Amino acid sequence: MPPLTSSNGAAELRQPVRAYVGLGSNLAQPRSQVQRALDELGALPDTSVALRSHLYRSAPMGPPDQPDYINAVAALDTRLDAIALLHQLQSIELAHGRVRQGERWGPRTLDLDLLLYGELQMDTPELTLPHAGLHLRAFVLYPLHEIAADLTVPGHGRVDQLLAGCSAEGLERLQASL
Ligand code: ATP
Ligand code: CA
Ligand code: CA
Ligand code: CA
Repeated sequence: MPPLTSSNGAAELRQPVRAYVGLGSNLAQPRSQVQRALDELGALPDTSVALRSHLYRSAPMGPPDQPDYINAVAALDTRLDAIALLHQLQSIELAHGRVRQGERWGPRTLDLDLLLYGELQMDTPELTLPHAGLHLRAFVLYPLHEIAADLTVPGHGRVDQLLAGCSAEGLERLQASL
């Protein structure tokens, strides 16, 4: 990966970075939330959607008294830096009416996790890369494997090997729809 320039000024000179975003929703017509968010990712500045997985249905990871989730993973090519991309993802969440409540992993209209940003590794409260749950979660690994089977997750190994160690119980790949 070429060195990244600073976030100001020279952004359009930067080479695009392949980033992966995990999408999830379990409120207010989740399939529609995720489909719209995929389109909105493509409309971000200096960003295009290179690949998108099927939609998946998954049993909730957090409190069990909430609806099933719809999940997907998208590969982006972006010239935004990682923090700018995270902030764009948060803007899309807000536009979908995301309300932050006290409960961890509680129900939400839209969750956009930045799974990977090139090979960048960082660990701050605002942004941890790779995403801290990525290598453990079937609803991330199965859609990610669909679009990036050969990918290596920095610090964790190849996606196909991570997948082999992760049960697909509670996960269902949905048929492509309109
Ligand atoms: P999880 O992160 O375990 O999937 P969650 O998605 O429910 O849980 P959120 O409430 O959406 O968690 O996010 C909490 C905080 O995580 C955000 O304020 C954000 O700054 C931070 N964060 C750290 N790393 C990332 C990342 N890779 N992608 C998205 N948010 C991140
Ligand atoms: Ca675009
Ligand atoms: Ca999440
Ligand atoms: Ca999140």
